[in-house]
Amino acid sequence: MIPYSRYAPTTMQTKTNCIVKKEHYDPKELKLHETLFCNANGYIGIRGTLEEGVPAGFPTMRGQYLAGAYEIIPMKQAESLCNLVEKKQTMLNICDTQTIRLSINGEEFLPAEGGVVSAERILNMDEGYTERKTSWKSPSGKEVDIRIRRMAHFGIKELFTIEYEVEALNFSGEAVFDSFHIAEVENYSDPDDPRLADESPCYLKLVEQGFREEASYSLTETGESGVRIAAATNHVIISEAKACSMIREEGGALITRLRVPMKQGEKITVLKYAAFSDSIRQEDPKAKAMQVLSDAMKQDIKDLYEAQKRFLSDFHSRSHMVIDGDKELEDAVRFNMYELLQAAPHDAHSGIAAKGLSGEGYEGHFFWDTEMYVVPFFLLTDPGLAKNIISFRYATLQKARENAALLGHKKGALYPWRTITGVECSGYFPSGTAAYHINGAIAYAVVQYYLTTGDEDFLKEMGLEILIETARLWLDTGVYDRQGRFNILEVTGPDEYTCMVDNNYYTNASAKYNLSYAAKLWEKLSDEEEIRKLSERLKLSDSEISEMKRAADNMYLPYDEEYGINPQDDSFLKKPVWDLAATPKEEFPLLLHYHPLHLYRYQVCKQADTVLSYFLFPKLQSRETMEKSFRYYEKITTHDSSLSTCVFSMTASMLGLRKEALSYFGDSAKLDLMNRHGNTGDGIHTANMGGCYMAIVNGFAGLRINEDGLCIDPFLPEGLTGYSFPFAFRGRRLKLSVEKDKISLELVSGEALSFGFRGEVQRIEEEGIWTYRL
Ligand code: BGC
Repeated sequence: MIPYSRYAPTTMQTKTNCIVKKEHYDPKELKLHETLFCNANGYIGIRGTLEEGVPAGFPTMRGQYLAGAYEIIPMKQAESLCNLVEKKQTMLNICDTQTIRLSINGEEFLPAEGGVVSAERILNMDEGYTERKTSWKSPSGKEVDIRIRRMAHFGIKELFTIEYEVEALNFSGEAVFDSFHIAEVENYSDPDDPRLADESPCYLKLVEQGFREEASYSLTETGESGVRIAAATNHVIISEAKACSMIREEGGALITRLRVPMKQGEKITVLKYAAFSDSIRQEDPKAKAMQVLSDAMKQDIKDLYEAQKRFLSDFHSRSHMVIDGDKELEDAVRFNMYELLQAAPHDAHSGIAAKGLSGEGYEGHFFWDTEMYVVPFFLLTDPGLAKNIISFRYATLQKARENAALLGHKKGALYPWRTITGVECSGYFPSGTAAYHINGAIAYAVVQYYLTTGDEDFLKEMGLEILIETARLWLDTGVYDRQGRFNILEVTGPDEYTCMVDNNYYTNASAKYNLSYAAKLWEKLSDEEEIRKLSERLKLSDSEISEMKRAADNMYLPYDEEYGINPQDDSFLKKPVWDLAATPKEEFPLLLHYHPLHLYRYQVCKQADTVLSYFLFPKLQSRETMEKSFRYYEKITTHDSSLSTCVFSMTASMLGLRKEALSYFGDSAKLDLMNRHGNTGDGIHTANMGGCYMAIVNGFAGLRINEDGLCIDPFLPEGLTGYSFPFAFRGRRLKLSVEKDKISLELVSGEALSFGFRGEVQRIEEEGIWTYRL
């Protein structure tokens, strides 16, 4: 028997394509498991909370979310300086349809009472469900095996199912399920953590609820944004017994009571179907939810499971990563990829939140995390989905122009640092709005999408307009100094422990890329009809394009002669170095223990900054400068942000620092599964998950795509015996495998291909395999 509340470190066991964890019913683990066993499909996200609820005092984030659903709330600034953001958007906890209370012969299933004989949670990534298995002995000695399977359906985005199976082991009697549909619920908050909201109101108010025939339904609406959410549920009982009953009760919550006789040794099952819809996507969300529900109820659950499996088999065929020699690592990487799939929206009504759909950390906001860290995964595995993700930025381009105007820019677009609908939502502008590098990240994703797919229509439809408007912003922001260098002043780079600086190396390098690609791709396509029209609409002239080229060519990239490194910004090296060795462990992350101004006065980095720019723009510096800088920043980076170790790994790979590459990678790969940052309970870290993929594909395998096409330069990190992954490139499917004695690139489908390998051009014919002996 597992004592109810014994603390045990999170354990992980492995089964093929499954994540399995023992459930200790421990308050320290509960929120973590809610995140790790969350079911999401890019539209709905349902945290893996315990169906029966949690004992008093157990921290829980009982959440259900819909992508892009939000409320607008005041964000009072202490001093009302001009054009500061005074309202923000926040994600909604939409309702609770996951509560199911079970009683066995009158004894309620509460793990805290009676005894848990064994309990585990499973995420099956081949079949797309989570399962909770508990063997429980009631206080009076009745033994049951309980298996609860949950699925957020990838094919029917609005659908979530719970299959609740109970087997009576040593008695016959009756099971009673009270299945809830609670329309009004609160959001989660933690006033002590700036990464979470500080109050937890109930944003969605009831418009109507009730039962129609057997189904429960609710319609709720926010007070300010006017977003309406509909939910509907219904049940099916699977049992040999005839005398089953369902009674419906309407109080505050809608409750369906299901009574099912039980015979010793027999399994009974209750299936709960829930469907959700919203007014962002649907005129009549209630009708939509009811329709989806009734259509789904006509399908056998087995068919729904089959469809889910087929969807995932297709996903795996495009992304399946094999890592030989470290099964646990392989599972961790696959988990990360699966979570990215769960987070990815399938329409332009939403971006990808920093926490996906798995929790309320950062209030559901979308950051640069999406374009810089997550898009690269989809580019190589599902370019169509990558395009969808970027199209959210196109859909919000007008709001980015308005944001730029609010900040005093005469032209161009500035994407918001954090947002849900495209409006700036960061309250503290020094480490929010001032992070202009978000424009660079979006421009980089646009160019990478084009280079990876060759899709010129995308450039004509949306890509070029994004590039031009973001490039204009740099033109409007930067100034030439007396030496004729283009300077970008008063911005914040990726490292949020250093804010509002002049010439952040990373920002300048990404602005250079943005400016030069805007000009280059415009010139390439300027004779096309669509681009002529675009230029007219944007009032874009040849001289403005020349200005873009001039700014790109003269972009100032700080370099320090004495150290032989690129300083993070103009003032960085003047500051004293923070003594990390003397900082007590409990004081990390530093942001929770030191005033921001104090941090800004030191050389101490929260995350990769200049080191990231080396990986993205390697041609701007010599290898020697990059290695010296890497070594320099390594010593002063805390990696307090989860966006950091993955980048150190890929840059280390690029510089041939293999030991470092592997060690940073290990940290990144298991960050959420092992709760390395201690806050996975608030949601997954999608950027790191994408970064972990990049650390293998772009780091270890050295896969890069640029104007010359595809290049690879793989190595096998010590301790591994091989790895392989499929990827897509310009209409082709390929598979790269690295073994101890050989590297091979297989052209699975598509036309013959020339590619670069260690500076030489190689070629694979149709359906051919190129092999290199090591
Ligand atoms: C990081 C940002 C990131 C944000 C959301 C912050 O801690 O510093 O770079 O965009 O988290 O993940």
